[in-house]
Amino acid sequence: MTTGNINVSVENIFPLIKKFLYSDHEIFLRELISNATDATLKLKHLTSIGEAKVEYGNPVIEVKIDKEGQKLHILDQGIGMTADEVQKYINEVAFSGAEEFLEKYKDSKDTGIIGHFGLGFYSAFMVAKKVEIITKSYTDAPAAHWTCDGSPQFTLEEADKKDRGTEIILHIADDSTEFLEESRIRELLVKYNKFMPVPIKFGTRTETLPKPEDAKEDDPAPTKEVDNIINNTEPAWTKQPSDLKEEDYKNFYRELYPMQFEEPLFHIHLNVDYPFNLTGILFFPKLTNDISIQKDKIQLYQNQVFVTDNVEGIVPEFLTMLKGVIDSPDIPLNVSRSYLQADGNVKKISNYITRKVADKLNSLFKDNREDFEKKWNDIKIVIEYGMLSEEKFFEKADKFALYPTVDDTFHTFEELREKIKDNQTDKDDKLVILYTNNKEEQHGYIEEAKAKGYEVLLLDSPIVAHLIQKLETEKENISFVRVDAEPIDNIIKKDEEKISKLSDEEKDKLKEIITGAVPKEKYTVQLETMDSNAAPFLITQPEFMRRMKEMSATGGGGMFGMSNMPEMYNLVVNTNNELVSQILNTKTKPKQERLIRQSLDLARLSQGLLKGEELTNFIRRSFEMIK
Ligand code: ADP
Ligand code: MG
Repeated sequence: MTTGNINVSVENIFPLIKKFLYSDHEIFLRELISNATDATLKLKHLTSIGEAKVEYGNPVIEVKIDKEGQKLHILDQGIGMTADEVQKYINEVAFSGAEEFLEKYKDSKDTGIIGHFGLGFYSAFMVAKKVEIITKSYTDAPAAHWTCDGSPQFTLEEADKKDRGTEIILHIADDSTEFLEESRIRELLVKYNKFMPVPIKFGTRTETLPKPEDAKEDDPAPTKEVDNIINNTEPAWTKQPSDLKEEDYKNFYRELYPMQFEEPLFHIHLNVDYPFNLTGILFFPKLTNDISIQKDKIQLYQNQVFVTDNVEGIVPEFLTMLKGVIDSPDIPLNVSRSYLQADGNVKKISNYITRKVADKLNSLFKDNREDFEKKWNDIKIVIEYGMLSEEKFFEKADKFALYPTVDDTFHTFEELREKIKDNQTDKDDKLVILYTNNKEEQHGYIEEAKAKGYEVLLLDSPIVAHLIQKLETEKENISFVRVDAEPIDNIIKKDEEKISKLSDEEKDKLKEIITGAVPKEKYTVQLETMDSNAAPFLITQPEFMRRMKEMSATGGGGMFGMSNMPEMYNLVVNTNNELVSQILNTKTKPKQERLIRQSLDLARLSQGLLKGEELTNFIRRSFEMIK
């Protein structure tokens, strides 16, 4: 038997390991199972090239809890180690690795990155007061038994283990007994090892077998105890896209999100090995307008080992609303997030993902436009968000981004431009694109626009104000205007002269009367010469003000503090309407005021602005009038 000091210079490394990673103790299991997997795959490789003259067989990794003995066992049938190798790999290499790790991160405030970076074998000391390794190499060398109780001293002696492989025994520390609970270990196995490439056994389960031919009706079906394998060793993303059917992707989605009942809309299989290595499958779920709650559903793996579900910096921001997995050994995990964003490889990965997503969307659009249109409302938020945040994506998406009209026809931007350019170009040669964000509330305004033969888009996502701002800067000579921003003839100004029924003196008088009868702080009275059959009173909200308010409410763009500005409206009075002449010519003041108030309320009603007590009063008054 040998005893020795691992390294005298760092007497206190074990307490340090333990204290240091206080929040991430659970990763020890991932590390030990990764080692067991590596050892198994190494053996597979050596047998395949004829280097190891042993039977590879069907190795499993086993995790066992010995509650009574307060021990956790991790066993593998991999390559194993000779005593010399234990000395070299555990006492020297792994130890100095752990030491280096601690040196580097001991003062780090960035605890988020620590869990991503394996401390390796020595992470066992985060939860164990003593660790044993019993290991037998695939060569003829005798088995070795290493023990270390958390002080720098270790013992290394011969053991009589006969079968190849390694057993790690953790004597769980008194403050870590949670790791002796079956439910806790199962939780960790599912979290970190669900898709690892070597089968992992955790206990057994009862399997029901088919009844034999001669069984009687109420004979119980025979059962059998079988290994409980917790992982799928060949998850869909590790296969070739050509080997998978639509159904396989859906099944994989269910495997990833067992609690999710809604099916994904479509998937994107990522598969690249140059200039970096990356595989994965992204799913487009049905998305709602609430951006924040849908984030952090993509899982990041490294060679089938779960690392994190925070892919910030790796996946472009707008795609963090998707679901699925990304697996890459080329993503550096031991660096801070800000460094990650500056890393050349990571930037390439992020660009690749953006391009793949754009290409897939483009082919869905081209191959089956009808289906793409059906899905548009469920996916538009990602696309619109992407167009806003990634220039490259904007260029690609411009070909397939859709602009639906209130009548449910979908146009690309170019199609729309073609369609409306004759009718909706104003006298200054500007193409005016009309839109609404609510078909019901702005119904009256939409009808006015349609009566002129104009198209009205239905743009109702929360970031639409930002998007149209972007489109206005990208495209030449266009402007988006919401249908209720102004009277329709003012939105798209043509060259025709409108003749006013009222003289200038009459107009001045009318303006004075109406201004005196409506709340000044809320409405700016604006006289307009319009068609005589257009509404007498109309409430509008100027595009610029409203859009700035919306933009500052959804963050970014716009002007700071705009969302707190009071609501201001224009009260547009159609001087050619019969009722307006009547108001002007009414001699009795109370009657005149009543007409104005009633007309104002009707205009507010058509904007959905009449509510509460004012609505009640309006209804009462209206009943009175028709009695
Ligand atoms: P890493 O896995 O990054 O090499 P670790 O600290 O996890 O670092 O492990 C150190 C070394 O110990 C491994 O490289 C391997 O040589 C050896 N080792 C650890 N666990 C096993 C095992 N279960 N079977 C065989 N060798 C192992
Ligand atoms: Mg390791």
